Amino acid sequence: MLLIDCPFCGKRNESEFVYGGPAMPARPADPSALDDAHWVDHLTVPPNPMGPVEERWWHLRGCGSWLTIRRDTVTHAIAEVRHGG
Ligand SMILES: [Zn+2]
Repeated sequence: MLLIDCPFCGKRNESEFVYGGPAMPARPADPSALDDAHWVDHLTVPPNPMGPVEERWWHLRGCGSWLTIRRDTVTHAIAEVRHGG
């Protein structure tokens, strides 16, 4: 269970939040250069790296803010929480 330190509400259980996906996934520099299979992968397969990632979380059962969280997917340690994107 994650404990997310909302900048407005303080430390809260992740059950108060809704996962919003990866923050700003990298877009190919030249999408027209990709073949169909790679383009479909980019649009439909979310990245799932081991290590640090940036994610969007919505504090639905709290202040209603969208937060960006830098979290390690291996240890679940949260290094940074900031408001917005
Ligand atoms: Zn909050």
